[in-house]
Amino acid sequence: MSQRLHADEGSSALSKPLVLVVEDEAALATMLRYNLEKQGFRVEEAGDGQEALTRIAEAQPDLVLLDWMLPVMSGIEVCRQIRRRSVTRDLPVIMVTARTEDQDAVRGLNTGADDYITKPFNMESLLARMRALLRRSNAVPAKGRLVFHDITMDLATHRVQRNARSVHLGPTEFRLLEFFMQHPRRVFAREELLDAVWGPDIHVEPRTVDVHIRRLRKSINGEGELDVVRTVRAAGYALDTEPV
Ligand code: CA
Repeated sequence: MSQRLHADEGSSALSKPLVLVVEDEAALATMLRYNLEKQGFRVEEAGDGQEALTRIAEAQPDLVLLDWMLPVMSGIEVCRQIRRRSVTRDLPVIMVTARTEDQDAVRGLNTGADDYITKPFNMESLLARMRALLRRSNAVPAKGRLVFHDITMDLATHRVQRNARSVHLGPTEFRLLEFFMQHPRRVFAREELLDAVWGPDIHVEPRTVDVHIRRLRKSINGEGELDVVRTVRAAGYALDTEPV
């Protein structure tokens, strides 16, 4: 998906990241294209969910800006399909939602999006999120270092640091944090965390997750440090630096 960013360092058109804007409001799509092109992105457009999947397969974008409410197929369904296909599983997706839509549902429903932004949004804020996602998708090797906020995980040596301090984690807390750091800001239900961290064949109570989240918080949040684990009521947990 992002190899071309590695390969081309020059100023050729191909070195510019390609963004697929999936938006059925023509005026908004035009505004996004204008601003993104001005910021050095290439832009493709799709006006509905089905077209989005076709354009993703054909154009292989580096990032998708995905409207939540779309004709033919909803943004959520498009996102699920992106995640289901192995070639697009790691494609960065930012969900764009309207202010009238239920924000708790947007956060709580596991859409598979890497991030989301609410309309009307600030272009600078959108660009910052896009750049952060693109940096991550290009920079993070499969096995290496994970960085989130002031936390660093070295997966080879199993060392975790926050600021300059070493953090000691039990094996389950380590895997939990590793999973969160691979999907920062995404909200996961307890059942999803059980599947991802414990494995789908292990049958333990969802409450077990709470116990390990508590231990993770105790270890990772030092005195006076920001709590980086966000509890989302009735939905689950996320690694996040923004409060509820
Ligand atoms: Ca829409």
